[in-house]
Amino acid sequence: MPYYITDPCIGTKDTACVDVCPVDCIHPRKDEDAFPAATILFIDPVECIDCGACVPACPVQAIYAEDDLPESQRVFVQINEVWYKGPAEAERLIGEYVTGAPDQMALDPKDRAAVHGK
Ligand code: SF4
Ligand code: SF4
Repeated sequence: MPYYITDPCIGTKDTACVDVCPVDCIHPRKDEDAFPAATILFIDPVECIDCGACVPACPVQAIYAEDDLPESQRVFVQINEVWYKGPAEAERLIGEYVTGAPDQMALDPKDRAAVHGK
């Protein structure tokens, strides 16, 4: 049951989760070429060992275990997975999500998780 990064990371992307991940499965890191262009960070579901350490490290509650994902954030399963095959497609899907969720995106990132389940 991997973990996934969701919409509060948009506009935050502070990499706090990278620092606590024991298996380095959250990318792009700040020292990777892809970092500036990435809208969010992405968890590699193949490498994730499901330890949960990243969840409390995230200041905006952007990270969920797959079973806990709110319906509104389900698309981020695909977004996280796809980035590892092709960042452009992941960014296209994020763009689609942002366009389709204007009310959510108008919120401050720290306030988004509170309305994920509503
Ligand atoms: S659950 Fe653990 S292994 Fe998976 S991304 Fe978070 S910190 Fe890394
Ligand atoms: S800690 Fe949260 S907001 Fe920061 S990069 Fe990780 S998922 Fe994004």
